[in-house]
Amino acid sequence: MTTSLSGKELASALRQDVTARAARLTAGGTPPKLAVVVATDDEGSAWYVRSIARSAEKAGIVCDIVDLGADADRDAIADRLAELSRDRAVHGIIVQTPLPTGISAADVAGQVAVAKDVDGANPASLGRLVAGIPAFAPATAEAVVAILDHHHIGLEGVEVAVVGRSTVVGKPLAHLLLDRNATVTVCHSRTTDLPAVTSRADVVVAAVGRPSLIGADHVRSGAVVVDVGTNPTDDGGLVGDVDAGAVTGKASALTPVPGGVGPVTTALLLRHTVEAAEGQV
Ligand code: NAP
Repeated sequence: MTTSLSGKELASALRQDVTARAARLTAGGTPPKLAVVVATDDEGSAWYVRSIARSAEKAGIVCDIVDLGADADRDAIADRLAELSRDRAVHGIIVQTPLPTGISAADVAGQVAVAKDVDGANPASLGRLVAGIPAFAPATAEAVVAILDHHHIGLEGVEVAVVGRSTVVGKPLAHLLLDRNATVTVCHSRTTDLPAVTSRADVVVAAVGRPSLIGADHVRSGAVVVDVGTNPTDDGGLVGDVDAGAVTGKASALTPVPGGVGPVTTALLLRHTVEAAEGQV
């Protein structure tokens, strides 16, 4: 039997806590505020930003979408991020990707104040994470650990295979898992025999962006599988990186897509924003 590791219950509990903390901050004269900097006309990105804004407003967090247009240049984006970092009324800043061609998040996110870097985009935040100095971790990476904790899946001494080594998911996740005393292997597009590596692991995390990359051959019997992938389908739906049909019955547990890592990620972004407003980092 394969248990579904839903993220909905955890996300709801996180949102409740955030809503109470946001109300206290607002009553005390510090309404928490999140700025989302956008420089793209990508439809998927616009949908995601609208959904963050809706969740923020529902929780009592003011959300400003700062749209710089798809032709914004590097300096315009960096200058705006620096300005928002100085603005005392703004507590959290997200740099939405994709950015215009030729500009990477790493090119501009250095301008985001670490104390407001609620999605861990500034390379300094990643450095601090690796060095064990307080900083916000990228919300998706943190969501993977949070969802495993919520479902009482232990990490101490456990072998975890992370598939994907991006700066926003795979790399920070590997460090969060190491902090929890897991034994971590990070796989990527040049991994020679992916099924041989992942099928040794107790926990497999797929963070690639390829539908059905992880099938039955990649997972040992009884393993826990976390699917970070969010791949749009032609009919407007969403599928993960794991072939859920193939893995069901073999894995002991699997996160659904949608309804797994995604809602927890959004809730953690909001929690980071109230933490920033409370001056916790
Ligand atoms: P990314 O920057 O494109 O990185 C993808 C990683 O997958 C790279 O490290 C790449 O290896 C690796 N890869 C590509 N093909 C592979 C293969 N055949 N075998 C093994 N590894 C392979 O993507 P990302 O930003 O990390 O996002 C990954 C997925 O998570 C996407 O579907 C994204 O939409 C999703 N996501 C979800 C959330 C959420 O809240 N649920 C948040 C963020 C991202 P190389 O390094 O060798 O190129």
